[in-house]
Amino acid sequence: MPLSSKLPHVGTTIFTTMSRMAQEENAINLAQGFPSFGSDSVLLELVAKYTGGGFNQYAPMSGVSELKQALAVKTQLTQGYFPDPELEVTIVSGATESLFAAFTAIVHPGDEVIVFEPAYDSYVPAITLNGGIPVFVPLQSPNFSVDWELVASKISSHTRAIVVNSPHNPSGYVWSQEDVNFLAHLVAQHGLYVISDEVYEHILFDGKSHISLGSNALLRERTFICGSFGKTFHVTGWKIGYCIAPQPLSYEFRKVHQFLTFSTVTPIQYALAEYLQNPEKYQSLPTFYQKKRDLFLEGLALTPLKFQPSQGSFFQLVSYGHLSKKSDILIAEQMTRQLKVACIPVSVFYSDRKDLQVLRFCFAKEDKELNEALNQIKNFDKILD
Ligand code: PMP
Ligand code: GLN
Repeated sequence: MPLSSKLPHVGTTIFTTMSRMAQEENAINLAQGFPSFGSDSVLLELVAKYTGGGFNQYAPMSGVSELKQALAVKTQLTQGYFPDPELEVTIVSGATESLFAAFTAIVHPGDEVIVFEPAYDSYVPAITLNGGIPVFVPLQSPNFSVDWELVASKISSHTRAIVVNSPHNPSGYVWSQEDVNFLAHLVAQHGLYVISDEVYEHILFDGKSHISLGSNALLRERTFICGSFGKTFHVTGWKIGYCIAPQPLSYEFRKVHQFLTFSTVTPIQYALAEYLQNPEKYQSLPTFYQKKRDLFLEGLALTPLKFQPSQGSFFQLVSYGHLSKKSDILIAEQMTRQLKVACIPVSVFYSDRKDLQVLRFCFAKEDKELNEALNQIKNFDKILD
């Protein structure tokens, strides 16, 4: 009997594919979203301190108390409320686990879940593996904002939840207070749950601030906030993240977490707890990344490509539809093989592979790499029809 796939339409992720192609072609990898620079030596020394100090056995299932407490304090400082560290904060193995556990905790077979597109690739498989049905709502070009009337029109008696991601991957769109208020209204009206992917919570530009859904008292009661230390502290390979949710939601979330991974890497939890005592470490991120975004945009302005400045995250979308009718997948491949700069075709973030002729570039890279990549992108006309 052949194995009947539970994910028949899923192959290798585009991030793996493009990183592999970048390596084969010796191209600069502006495709997969990870920093090319190292993390703070202070954090690395703290990890050495705790591994050397014997903190190497299983952590408590919901996380080390010191880290849960530090996250609650950070939430108070940045979002104005204090989640109960022992009941409402859970440490997990990356935001990917946080998202999967949150979907699994609430999605029953036949439940509909509203997903904005373009969408990060892990949401839909997590919904369908739980028997749920994704209901897609396109974000509006050119800035990828939310059409709230359209969202309201997609809600049915089967709608269980909605997935939110601000700052948004891949577009960089950042939710306004108005967006949060619209969502709160719909959640109250229809009794929805919310899964809020806030992994880029500390990477925002032009003075914008991140409005966590937890900062809204009504939404806080219905929302799983999923975060990642990988993004904030330039350590994506550590796969450590968290979920903040009210006690009844966290209770169900933890039931899933304890059978997904049970607990998360112990010494790194202690190290992060100590490192978080200095808020400057995450408060300095907007300035740090804004320099990179601006460097990248200044270079792009010298090319024939078009763009709207990213508002947050470490991604920049770029459109070429006025120059060529080639598919974004073909252009991304040619960029990698011929121009030696890898990027991500945005059509892969759409369930129907809608091609807006837009590419995603990650600018979390050394300035030298960004400058080299820009030099290459200037030759974009070489890959036109
Ligand atoms: N959500 C978004 C929007 C992301 O870009 C990523 C990227 N890595 C994740 C979740 C997963 O985070 P982690 O690596 O902590 O699992
Ligand atoms: N979040 C990263 C991105 O969007 C990739 C993470 C992964 O490779 N799964 O590029």
